[in-house]
Formats: sequence, C-alpha cells, structure tokens
Amino acid sequence: MKIVDIRERSVPLHSAMRNASIDFSKMTASVCAIITDVVRDGKPVIGYGVGSNGRYAQGGILRERLIPRVLEAVPVDLLDGAGANFDPAKVMGAMMRNEKPGGHGDRAVAAAVIDMAMWDIVAKVEEKPLWQVIANRFNGGAYDDRVLVYPGGGYYYPGKGLEPLQAEMRTYQEQGYRVLKMKVGGADLDTDLRRIEAVLEVVGDGANLAVDANGRFSLDEAIAFGKAVESYKLFWFEEPGDPLDYALQAELTQHYSGSMATGENLFSAQDAKNLVVYGGMRPELDWIQIDPALAYGFTEYLKVDAMMTEQGWSRRQQIPHGGHQLGFNMAAGMQLGGSETYPLVFQPWGGFADDVDIVDGYARPHDTPGIGIELKSKVYQQLKELAEG
Ligand SMILES: [Mg+2]
Repeated sequence: MKIVDIRERSVPLHSAMRNASIDFSKMTASVCAIITDVVRDGKPVIGYGVGSNGRYAQGGILRERLIPRVLEAVPVDLLDGAGANFDPAKVMGAMMRNEKPGGHGDRAVAAAVIDMAMWDIVAKVEEKPLWQVIANRFNGGAYDDRVLVYPGGGYYYPGKGLEPLQAEMRTYQEQGYRVLKMKVGGADLDTDLRRIEAVLEVVGDGANLAVDANGRFSLDEAIAFGKAVESYKLFWFEEPGDPLDYALQAELTQHYSGSMATGENLFSAQDAKNLVVYGGMRPELDWIQIDPALAYGFTEYLKVDAMMTEQGWSRRQQIPHGGHQLGFNMAAGMQLGGSETYPLVFQPWGGFADDVDIVDGYARPHDTPGIGIELKSKVYQQLKELAEG
C-alpha cells in the first residue's frame, strides 16, 4: 500500500468582489490529486484536495518542500499500525520534517491541501463517506443527519446597490438557506447600516443574519459598529478586528452583548488556543471558525477539537470557515455547530454536491465514499484531468 504520485495545480478563484480587507481579482487556490496503488471497484484509489479561499495557491511550497518529502518517505512509515490504511498524521509528520514550529502562514495552507486528499483516501479505502469515518473514529459513531449550513455572501461589488444585495439574499432563501451572511466594514458606518437594514427587510429577523468585518476594524471602530448594530440581535458579528489581536477581541466582549465569531485566519491548534484562552471568547455565546483547509487539514483540527474540549467548549460552537466539503463532513461526523458554504461565489469550487438539498437551512450528508468531490461535477472533471496527467 503506497502513494504512487502527488500532482498539484493552481486554479483561479478570481472575481470582481471584495470584502473589507481584500479584493478577489487575482485570488487563486491550490488543488491536488494523490494517486495510490490501492484498488477499489477495479480502479486505483485517488484522493483529492482543494484549498480554501482567501490565502492564494501554494504551489511553490508544495513542489519544493512538502510533496518531495512525502514521496521520499518509506511507504510503510505512512501507514496505520495494522498497515490496513494510510495514516494522515504520519503523512503530516513527513511533510513537516525540518520545519520549525510557529509562523504557520502559507505552509499551513499548503499542507492542508495534501491532508484533505489523504482523508479522502482513508475514507475511500474504508469504502465509507468521510463523515462516517470521522463519526466512527472520533465521535463514538454518533453523527448528524442534517447540518446547519449558511452561505457566505453579501460581498461588495463595484456599483452594487441595495437592490442587487437584496436580490442575492433572496436567491439564497429560494435555495433553502435560512441564516445568511453579509460583508461589512468595507464602507462607512451609515452605508453599512443601510445595507444591513436592506437585508433585514429580506431575512425578517436579526437572528437570520450574520455580519463579517474581515478583520478591518480598530478597537474604537469595532465598538462603534457593535453599538450601532447591537439592537438588531444579529446571528453573529464576525472577525471585528485583526485576527491575532486577542486583546482587542477580549475588550470588545465588554462592549458588545451579542454573539461573535472568529478564527478563520488562525492556522494551528496553538493559535486557536491563544484565541480561546486570551481572546475573551464566551463558550455559551461565541463561535470558533478555524478552517481546516487553511490550517494543516483535519489532522490539525483534531488537536483544535481536543484543545477546545479541554477549555470547556462544546463542539456545537465550532463552525468551520471556508464553504468546502471537508468542513461539511466534519460538521456531520463530529456534530459541530454547522458549516459555511458558497453556493454563488468561488465557483465551481465553492459549495457542496451538485444535488445537495437545503431544507430550512440544513443540508444532508452524502452516502458515497470519501469527501464527496465526485458529486461536484465541474470540480471533479478538473481534478480527474489532473490525476490523469
Ligand atoms: Mg469571515
């Protein structure tokens, strides 16, 4: 049982949209195909990994450091104790050989793409959906047969007024979503309040709307924004300030009584621990959004999960960023709070299976082996071509 080849490619995620911090005119992501010599249904098992959005492709790190180290490893050293399947933690160990601790950044994004493909392989070798493998190994067999999902949307586009924003939100509702999210902090406060009120006309209640400032605000701006929106009782106020400014986050909890969410720009279990210990986050109210596809994959996420349990947090307050099928499988198999999704943006990479049915804001997990990439036809077509060289 061995890895035969690892192929990677950069793909465009570009779009005219922007949030409060960046535009997406040159956004890219890395994707990979890992080919094994294991045969199921008469064909070699191939795992697929797709990078999350917002941190660009990492082809250099993949080609120059991580992939060669995996291919140079002794094959049996990458297997579980029984030699019956691959062990993604051992593959991670090989990738991280001669990498110093700390300073996670782009390396974590690159490693996550390989790790996602390895978990896809593990599930395909077991001939089970990944969420089922996760439930069996890490949740005593329990799982959710419906997962809370919310679309990340409401971006700023050139010339986009209130009516197109409302139309976008109606589209999500027609698709079956209940909780929606919009960007804030990319305009002055009065403009953003008009945008929020326009969306509230559509969603009816603040409990159906989350807002995301993408780390744009200073402490004073975050407090002012929080005071201005507090009476809407929003689903959450996301990433108000710099993602590494735990003191800002902790201070803000003294000024804003509603739920807050953050963590998508923290790329290791240690960074997540710093947020939980020093960021003032409230386990009964707030949400942690570590994105496994940016932060060394599900293998590292298991450490995040263990840390959060140790710190007294429920899994229901974890809700992975990124709108990818890995986060969805984790949410179902670990019974997390839910998962983000991107039904309209970052296409064709964003969102879940082509035929996923959203009912009252919940989605059902798939029943085919692996992460479910094969159920997204446009994505699968491109990854299949990559695997076939
Ligand atoms: Mg965000």
